[in-house]
Amino acid sequence: MQILERDHYECQDCRKRLRDAVAAGDILRGEEKKIRRAEEVHHIVELKEHPELGLEEDNLISLCVPCHNLRHGRAPRRFKRKKKLVSKELW
Ligand SMILES: [Zn+2]
Ligand SMILES: [Zn+2]
Repeated sequence: MQILERDHYECQDCRKRLRDAVAAGDILRGEEKKIRRAEEVHHIVELKEHPELGLEEDNLISLCVPCHNLRHGRAPRRFKRKKKLVSKELW
């Protein structure tokens, strides 16, 4: 993906959050210090509204999955645990 390469596979929201925090003088700990690896490309302007921007690189941004979900107002993805089948057979 060109966009991911352009952004060096770094989540741009994580990057921004970090930059803002440093600018604000916040002390970051642990997870907050990390820029997560970008895995998805987000359209800044919804294509529904502006289909002509679909191929504009400026309209595309690399995001990690949690930040991408956040942008869409979705709950963070969680690992779904497979339910173990409870066997009622008694040997
Ligand atoms: Zn992120
Ligand atoms: Zn998106």
